[in-house]
Amino acid sequence: MTVTCELKDSWKQFLELVEKKCSSTEFHNWFSPIKVIPKEGDILHLEVPNIFVQEYLIDNYREDLALFFPNLENGKLPIEFHVKLDKKTPKKQPPKLIKKTTTFLLNKNYTFENFIEGPSNQFVKSAAIGVAVHPGKSYNPLFIHGGVGLGKTHLLHGIGHSIKNGSKNIKIQCITTEGFINDLIDNLKSKSVDKMKRYYRSLDILLVDDIQFLQNRLNFEDEFCNTFESLINQHKQIVITSDKPPSQLNLSERMIARMEWGLVANVGIPDLETRVAIIQHKADQKALFIPNDIAFYIAEHIYLNVRQIEGAINRLCAFCRLMNLKITQDIVERVLAELIHKNPLIRVTIDGILKSVSNLFEVKASDIKGNSRMKNIALARQIAMYLAKELMDDSLQKIASSFGGKTHSTLLHSWKKITKEIKENEKLHRQIQIIKRNLKG
Ligand code: ADP
Ligand code: MG
Repeated sequence: MTVTCELKDSWKQFLELVEKKCSSTEFHNWFSPIKVIPKEGDILHLEVPNIFVQEYLIDNYREDLALFFPNLENGKLPIEFHVKLDKKTPKKQPPKLIKKTTTFLLNKNYTFENFIEGPSNQFVKSAAIGVAVHPGKSYNPLFIHGGVGLGKTHLLHGIGHSIKNGSKNIKIQCITTEGFINDLIDNLKSKSVDKMKRYYRSLDILLVDDIQFLQNRLNFEDEFCNTFESLINQHKQIVITSDKPPSQLNLSERMIARMEWGLVANVGIPDLETRVAIIQHKADQKALFIPNDIAFYIAEHIYLNVRQIEGAINRLCAFCRLMNLKITQDIVERVLAELIHKNPLIRVTIDGILKSVSNLFEVKASDIKGNSRMKNIALARQIAMYLAKELMDDSLQKIASSFGGKTHSTLLHSWKKITKEIKENEKLHRQIQIIKRNLKG
């Protein structure tokens, strides 16, 4: 086999791997247009429709590519890209497809009425309502950030619904960052980028979900930033969601500064009472009756993510309807156990323990590692140390030093104290069971 044939074969194998790894839309958009240019030599020549495709491939698949095409001595991949030239064909040209801009429908359940308020999300909800009442006038942009499944998309769509209900003529676009990028690619392909730019810049409201996906997409970032500035300059409202605050995103300083122009608000993990209210609300929507003590039981067991709480309610509902059973603690335990079982086993780490303990006891992880003697912090610290000794294989010395450099006798003291207390204190016993289950889940 010639070198070129081998390279072509490797490319085919690479594509087979990629097809398994990514969605069919992604594959269609990014990989299908790439063509191998038959050339002799030990370098693979690829024809790409534009620079974005080349960048995308290198940014996202460098490691996979290196498996199939080992780096050259200079550390570069043995691949040369050729951007396809726009040849003028004198013959009949197929009609240009003007790509319609992707519009994302608002989820009908994601309204402000369905968003349960508590101390962790009160501020961000009021900010969202403020924006919906006076778009472009209160906070611009509004930047909402927080962990997975805590209601960012829900609030974004809530703003969309509320504005739409207020005025039918407002031009509003709700889009995921991936959607924006795919739009741009499609329009690049059909050479209708200017039309797309004009469309975005004519909007009254732009709602953008999950801006973190703009990270490491340099060319798209520029285009997004231009659209952003053009809208803000016309006092058009922009709302952005993200899994991190602007300063922690790997984006250009220009982009970060723009996102910090308006109001940055955080959606936190709802506290126990709010979680119970969410559970009751979701159960009501399904006409399912959940006794209060059971709602508490669920809220105590699933506490990091509202989407998981919803998942549990859906399962519980399906199970009870199917089996024609009333909800009891026994059933909840069975259904939840199944849910937890489905998660892959993970290795227990100090960070994991700190996160779970700090969430359940509502103290900061940094305080657990610190030296504060405040009662709730000291207890959380002792529990974290007890769990680390019970669940981790590392030496006592190593575990103790991970807690901000404590000694191994402090660790042993905590472990003994908690071991004794668990036997006498039912509530503590249950709390520790919850953490253990979550850590191993
Ligand atoms: P994120 O975008 O932050 O990952 P979502 O907005 O998709 O999270 O929320 C996940 C699910 O949890 C959605 O079904 C949403 O309705 C629900 N949810 C989150 N927070 C709340 C809340 N405070 N009240 C009611 N439902 C909520
Ligand atoms: Mg979301």
